[in-house]
Amino acid sequence: MRGWVTGAAGSAYDLDNLPYGVFSTPGTDPRVGVRIGDFVMEASAVAALGGDAGEGPHLAPVWAQAGLDEFLAMGRTVWDIAREWLVEVLGNDVHQPRVEPLLVPIDEVTMHRPFEVADYVDFYCSEQHATNVGRIFRPDGEALTPNWKHLPIGYHGRAGTVVVSGTDVRRPSGQRPESGGVPSYGPSRRLDIEAELGFVVGGATQLGEPVPTSAFTDHVFGVTPLNDWSARDIQAWEYVPLGPFLGKSFATSISPWVTPLAALTAARVELPGQDPEPLEYLRVQEPAGYDIDFEVVLNGEVVSRPPYAAMYWSPAQMLAHMTVNGASLRVGDLFASGTISGDERDQRGSLLELSWGGKEPFATPTTSGRTFLEDGDTVTLRATAPGALGGRIALGEVTGTVLPASQAGR
Ligand code: MN
Repeated sequence: MRGWVTGAAGSAYDLDNLPYGVFSTPGTDPRVGVRIGDFVMEASAVAALGGDAGEGPHLAPVWAQAGLDEFLAMGRTVWDIAREWLVEVLGNDVHQPRVEPLLVPIDEVTMHRPFEVADYVDFYCSEQHATNVGRIFRPDGEALTPNWKHLPIGYHGRAGTVVVSGTDVRRPSGQRPESGGVPSYGPSRRLDIEAELGFVVGGATQLGEPVPTSAFTDHVFGVTPLNDWSARDIQAWEYVPLGPFLGKSFATSISPWVTPLAALTAARVELPGQDPEPLEYLRVQEPAGYDIDFEVVLNGEVVSRPPYAAMYWSPAQMLAHMTVNGASLRVGDLFASGTISGDERDQRGSLLELSWGGKEPFATPTTSGRTFLEDGDTVTLRATAPGALGGRIALGEVTGTVLPASQAGR
């Protein structure tokens, strides 16, 4: 099916993509939209036209909401029916006369945070990243901790500071380690990014009921590129023994677009390999990895190309692990992969690794001597994956600009 939307066929936002977001136009309330080509489809208004095949019309009130939350709550069966309906509406040209007036050019919309983030968990699933960080933070110890290949390590982050792409990020202040052993207080000198993939949870579960790896697609609606902004000096001082805290919680940026898992079927790949074999509850049968290519863009220049396919732990394993103790899922839960880093230097997903703890400044095409983020820097994460139509689909990008530290509290 080619689809009738001008410019969509063969683009990165063709019928095999169809990400969901929340948008508004001047003077209107935010509501759910679906991206096709360089347009956003007014999902509720199109559903309200009625008369089409499928269940789309029943979703008009759900998509009139200012968030995806109600839609996320409906679960896999409805998500799949909705996608079939979207493909019919945007693919079959009998619908063009009625639907085309309900497409808004992408440059006329303002995008909003796509859902209310319930709980936020961040993992640490890249062996290359964990190895690099281990070597940088603990040069005298083993790079990987003894537990690393037995479970996907994670921590609970701060849901309330997950912000949508385009939100400025103020440089955090806090306690910074000093050589004498007594910390100083002030703006972070080692502000960093982490290129990650976020997973958006829909169907909720009951307290006490673990989610097996096989139920991953029942509970995860889709993905969103995610930047886990990190203050390395604050983090290095505070993280032992309870893990990340203020070095992470000041801001986490997500794309305004949530790409359905159903758009990533052609991107599924085998994991790189797990040795030792994980415990029973962490075993996966089918290809559990995703072949998604990331780009880290600093002030308009690509500085790294992290490959998601290199990740050691799969998202189905992350989900099984975060619920194995009976912790329940809520609609809007967000869990992230951890920094994506590949084997090569130009595949590292953080500036900590690109500059090797600040000791090996790196160059961009037009600058040199870069280590950590400077005030005014803009970081954008882009990602693409193989699509079902043979081309590549784009995941919505996530961008943010660093503002100087606040003067308050100093
Ligand atoms: Mn992270």
